[in-house]
Amino acid sequence: MRVLLANPETSRSKYDYAGIIDDEPYELECLMSYLKQRGMEVRIWDGQINKNFRGEVKKYKPDFVYFCGRTRQENFIKEYAFFCKEYSRKSIFKSGSIFKKSDTEKASSITTIIGGAHASLCPDRFFTDYTDFVVTTYDPSVLADIIEGRNPEELNGVCFKKKDVYPTWDNYSDKDIWIKNKALPYDIKKMPWADRSNFYENKDRYCYLELRPCAIIRTAYCCPYRCAFCYRNRLNCGRYSARDIKDVVDEIDSIDCENIYIIDDDFLVIPDRLHTFVRLIKERGIKKKFVAFGRADFIVKHPEVIKELSEIGFYYILTGLEYIENKRLSDTNKRLGVNTNGNAIRILHENGIHMMGMFITDLDFKKKDFKNLYRWIKHFKLAHVAVSIYTPEMCLENFSEYKDRLITEDPADWDYLHLVAKPDNISVKKYYLYYHILLIKLFLRAKRMGIYDFMDYKSFIKSFLKNLFKFSG
Ligand code: SF4
Repeated sequence: MRVLLANPETSRSKYDYAGIIDDEPYELECLMSYLKQRGMEVRIWDGQINKNFRGEVKKYKPDFVYFCGRTRQENFIKEYAFFCKEYSRKSIFKSGSIFKKSDTEKASSITTIIGGAHASLCPDRFFTDYTDFVVTTYDPSVLADIIEGRNPEELNGVCFKKKDVYPTWDNYSDKDIWIKNKALPYDIKKMPWADRSNFYENKDRYCYLELRPCAIIRTAYCCPYRCAFCYRNRLNCGRYSARDIKDVVDEIDSIDCENIYIIDDDFLVIPDRLHTFVRLIKERGIKKKFVAFGRADFIVKHPEVIKELSEIGFYYILTGLEYIENKRLSDTNKRLGVNTNGNAIRILHENGIHMMGMFITDLDFKKKDFKNLYRWIKHFKLAHVAVSIYTPEMCLENFSEYKDRLITEDPADWDYLHLVAKPDNISVKKYYLYYHILLIKLFLRAKRMGIYDFMDYKSFIKSFLKNLFKFSG
């Protein structure tokens, strides 16, 4: 069986982080490992670094193509799945004219399977004629079982098409209906280590800011917190599942890369686990730089852990500070206050760790809120900042509250850089104007502070200005 695992590009415009933050397709690499163990021939196609998906399909001639991605990749996933089916269809009907006979035989059997974070939470969005299966679980055996032809009715965490055997007179259709088999939480301890052959072949293309190259590892699924705006805590059926930390250190030790990005939604969860992590890294003499997500309240409650992490090379901690007002923080169930955020910045700085502070601009923001956010960031001497526009997630219950005020339905706009819903107090144009002014001010400040020297400032400022005029009128 030939399987192509595809991660489509995130954007075809320059309005994204391509070349700044490019993640190794870790999820696909773990699947690759597992499928190889089951005797399959597997290849990864990563749209961040490769451009020609169609050429890859024609050349590799897969029997199965599995796609994964986030909301903003939905269009590309669908476009490529459609291509696979069209390629198959044309091959059948035009055999001999366009494609060689061997191509025809292969292409006629391409099965399209869609998985990943977005499909697992919003499977219905992929129920199309050109999708064969949607996988909603992290369990890699489900994908392998589908490929080996097991009856999908026996599998948990899969959506599949079936003939409606009991149509009624008022909903008669000869079309297939989609059946959704519920997913079960998956124990991450069972997932094999990533197969990094793709990473080593393209090592220089994967990066986190100036940390180049940068490899990825996951030590846990899901997040034990329940912030109202976030979908990450819904993954793996909402069940937190963590790897044995010794196994994590063994894998880190085996990776030929000096920078490691721990991609857990929240790595700073269990103090004892982190103490053991530090001890094992020291005992092994591992010298690497680390990037990880961590909450501000953990940093403030456990400064001793932060000190230890700084000693083993923690370089960036990515923290969702979100807002600079207590009311906004409590309204979103963040379970911490602004003072905690300020103290967390101070503790990281005292330990020589860079905080990447992540903020949200809410839909009720006025001009003064954008200005206040800039002042707050400046006051706390925060150099690394990411500011997202509030984006209601399609998979969350509160999405229906925004249905009437959506200004776009294009999933490509769910990149946290676009307004998808009408702002409360100012026009869309004004909102974009103030947002882009904030980004430009932050960017110029970062330039003065000498960070991001690895980036092409001029082209970034140009793209910010272009977007400022494009979006704000
Ligand atoms: S702590 Fe972070 S990952 Fe967890 S629910 Fe909150 S925002 Fe999401």
